[in-house]
Amino acid sequence: MGDANRFIFGVEIEATRGLAMEEPASRMARLANDLVDFPDVDILGLTDNPGGNPNNRPEALGLQLHERGQEVFIGVSCKDHNRNGIESRLWALGSYGFDTVLALSGDHPTAGYAGQAKPVFDIDSVGLLEMMRRLNEGFPPPDRSVGARIPTMRTGFFPGTAVSPFKIKESEYLPQLFKLEYKIRAGAQWAITQIGYDSRKLDELKRYMALKQMNIPLIGSVFLLSAPAARFFHRWGVPGINASAELVEMANKQAKSEDKGRAFFHELAAKQIAILKGIGYRGAYLSGRPSLRRIETILEIEKSFGEDDWKDFARELQYPLPEEFYYFEQDPDTGLASSQINKKYLASKTGFAKNRKRLIQSPAFTLGKLTHDVFFDVKAPGRKLGELVYKGLEKTPRPVQRIAHIAEQASKIPMYGCQDCGDCSLPDTAYLCPESQCVKNQRNGPCGGTKNGKCEVLDKECIWSRAYDRLKSIGQEEQMLDRPVIFKNGALQGTSAWSNTFRERDHHSSNSEGQKSR
Ligand code: SF4
Repeated sequence: MGDANRFIFGVEIEATRGLAMEEPASRMARLANDLVDFPDVDILGLTDNPGGNPNNRPEALGLQLHERGQEVFIGVSCKDHNRNGIESRLWALGSYGFDTVLALSGDHPTAGYAGQAKPVFDIDSVGLLEMMRRLNEGFPPPDRSVGARIPTMRTGFFPGTAVSPFKIKESEYLPQLFKLEYKIRAGAQWAITQIGYDSRKLDELKRYMALKQMNIPLIGSVFLLSAPAARFFHRWGVPGINASAELVEMANKQAKSEDKGRAFFHELAAKQIAILKGIGYRGAYLSGRPSLRRIETILEIEKSFGEDDWKDFARELQYPLPEEFYYFEQDPDTGLASSQINKKYLASKTGFAKNRKRLIQSPAFTLGKLTHDVFFDVKAPGRKLGELVYKGLEKTPRPVQRIAHIAEQASKIPMYGCQDCGDCSLPDTAYLCPESQCVKNQRNGPCGGTKNGKCEVLDKECIWSRAYDRLKSIGQEEQMLDRPVIFKNGALQGTSAWSNTFRERDHHSSNSEGQKSR
């Protein structure tokens, strides 16, 4: 990925359940080893328990590939380990020389030994990126119990991140773009898209990144489609991947041909690669468990295309979902994004439109924000009073402190479903509790798993989509992730969050690691 002048090509190698020397793991190992000898493949991506399933560690195969001189990147997700487990894994990855790491929040676990595994999500992809950035600087991540940092040898991580432009609603799509900026500030040095079938959105992402000066290499995902896969995506079988009814219809039609649509799907993948090249992506990343023969075929087809053929392909390969939101108006000449920002969207940000939204604002948001602005914000007029009250309370007997804590909970449980974490993120999430209302406890923006604004697990709207709408009504949605990375402090569980804010013990404090490392 270091050579900026070359379009790179990568292939995903899925780790599997079972020992590395058994089928199907050995089949994937054989493919990976064959690809080492295949000159057109630059990098192999090794997955980390995709779909929330327990698989062999990607490092098991990665080591073999490394020994043969193959560049690989390793997926690290936050679903199966807490921050200590992740840090420990990062030290091991760095020691083995696995520097290119794809940081992911991860899919919600679906399977596990004797039942479903309990998800961890102690930190998220943004926290993981920040952790790698700090390790690269030679400092271990925050350790509040020790109270002092012991400098360590600098790691050489080249962290990457995922981004999904293939979202339907404005309120789930734009936070994805804001989060990409946030991740870059946290240390992401390259990005890879989610799987999708809309060239206009791929172009839009590139244009948006240029507009916001996000100058990191962008790789586009290409999935070798089949009719069953298209139907699976259409049923939202994989969190965050959508397939429109038109795409499924086309895939089903092709599957009726003698070769079950193989030739067609090879050409489709080749066209996607050509589009990515044409738009200006730094590379393409092929997934869908393709065999070596199929990879060769796809690349042969791609090489046979003319220089400008991608323009026709891009116009043709657009399968948005009904009512899908775009940030830019469509360019009638190319069918892709123009430089004009969506006019309806701009109109929705005017004072009149915002005032209408404010009329239907949630009372929990209005009250929470008002309380924050009057008492909790560092510049709030009542802040000093709060600090004095809680300083005094700490000198009172335990039962008095307990009563104050119960009074706090009496308002926060009914209003926000407070879980008493003691490190409150209500002001960060537009007064929606990430502990009780997000299955992944995401405090640093939405994960990529939403389906039409809904949570990938629960049948309810994602809190980040709701937060966007709330903040848009007061014109603050674009700044929703403009802040230091949040690490919840588990030591505060069961203690008064109000006290922790006024006494500067939580993540809002200017002494917190997140605020200091900004
Ligand atoms: S204190 Fe923690 S659990 Fe309670 S509302 Fe705030 S974020 Fe949610």
